[in-house]
Amino acid sequence: MTKAVIDTDKCVGHGQCAMMAPDVFDLDADGYARVIAADITGDLRRDTETAAMACPEQAIGIED
Ligand code: SF4
Repeated sequence: MTKAVIDTDKCVGHGQCAMMAPDVFDLDADGYARVIAADITGDLRRDTETAAMACPEQAIGIED
């Protein structure tokens, strides 16, 4: 299983991740990101990589 992870100490809630990978990330009521996909394979992994590059805080990681 491959997981998307968010470093909550770094996330400041820009929201790019939810726009780049809406099937992987959502924003909570305070605007901070949370992971909504249990397993990211195929297109979801590609979208997560795109979101990770777009995150200004470098708060997104991928764990295999
Ligand atoms: S783009 Fe980065 S800083 Fe912004 S909400 Fe997503 S994880 Fe947090």
